[in-house]
Amino acid sequence: MIEFQAVRKEYQNGTVAVHELSLSVRTGTITVLVGPSGCGKTTLMRMVNRMIEPSGGKVLVGGTDVRERDPAELRRGIGYVIQQAGLFPHRNVLDNIATVPLLHGRSKQEARKRAGELLELVGLQPELGKRYPAQLSGGQQQRVGVARALAADPPVLLMDEPFSAVDPVVREGLQDELLRLQDELDKTVLFVTHDIDEAIKLGEKVAVLRQGGHLAQYAEPDDLLAE
Ligand code: ADP
Repeated sequence: MIEFQAVRKEYQNGTVAVHELSLSVRTGTITVLVGPSGCGKTTLMRMVNRMIEPSGGKVLVGGTDVRERDPAELRRGIGYVIQQAGLFPHRNVLDNIATVPLLHGRSKQEARKRAGELLELVGLQPELGKRYPAQLSGGQQQRVGVARALAADPPVLLMDEPFSAVDPVVREGLQDELLRLQDELDKTVLFVTHDIDEAIKLGEKVAVLRQGGHLAQYAEPDDLLAE
């Protein structure tokens, strides 16, 4: 579903963030990119939705080179979840989630209804829909971020350290919730983390990156070698 073919990224200042890297993310599975800060995880992920263009090689989504896709159309099929949920501070939770279906031409009523369903799907009580983001805990905000990413029902989800800013206990709950959701919705997920335990827990496949954007290992969690 997502394929990186000899992908390379060199920024204008000469930094090589990704060094000829090939891997594929099987449809309906979670693949995790793990490695220390600065090893190219975010760069790699952002090439999938064309926020960053590769300097060499190809990125395919659903068998098509992303360069042949209109970026806006491509992004409708790709949900994006980041570390600090990135919610609109002046809209309540329900409206944060409903923004996406509204943009896609649903009526206000339909969009609100869908937002309510998504709230439930990510394990939040309906009452929370009326609150503003600042009135939620970090873990709750991340759940809203996931719900918003799911609002367009995208086949692909990009998740960039989505649970890193919450405390370890909450993080475990969020991880379990993601696995449950994944089981139910069957999305193709590319998940970035610097936490190897998180990678092992969530990934069907784990890609371990090393400084300079080198792929050190690419295996199922049970087959990873200790480093
Ligand atoms: P990670 O997500 O693993 O922390 P990044 O993909 O953010 O890594 O960054 C990889 C490397 O590219 C780092 O050395 C970083 O400093 C560098 N980098 C990221 N963005 C830019 C940019 N816009 N210009 C120059 N260098 C960048």
